[in-house]
Amino acid sequence: MPANRTPHPTKLRSPRGAQLTEIEWSDGKTTRYEHRTLRGLCPCAQCQGHDRGIRWLESAESASKLALELSEIEQVGNYAVGLTWGDGHSGGIYSFEYLRELAPLHDRPIEYLRAFRRD
Ligand SMILES: [Zn+2]
Repeated sequence: MPANRTPHPTKLRSPRGAQLTEIEWSDGKTTRYEHRTLRGLCPCAQCQGHDRGIRWLESAESASKLALELSEIEQVGNYAVGLTWGDGHSGGIYSFEYLRELAPLHDRPIEYLRAFRRD
């Protein structure tokens, strides 16, 4: 894995109670993520099953405020962050590469989230 060529976060901002996380990257970019987007595209096996690929979870569209609050963000190795949500859901490992793929979804209509495919 070309870890040295994948940008890595230099700063991550997720104010308590906010529904938005902002990441500054080593290549100078700043990306933003609605928590609904992160939760709805949670890559964990419990959400996505064990088949390859990531699809939008419609359950995120009616998720509670608590379920869209991040209670913990931890770095995983030097390639990803692990997110734990206010309702206790955890196990989603978001690689830096994946987070960069999600960045263009910010501020897009829900149709873009529903149409997201990662194989
Ligand atoms: Zn999950």
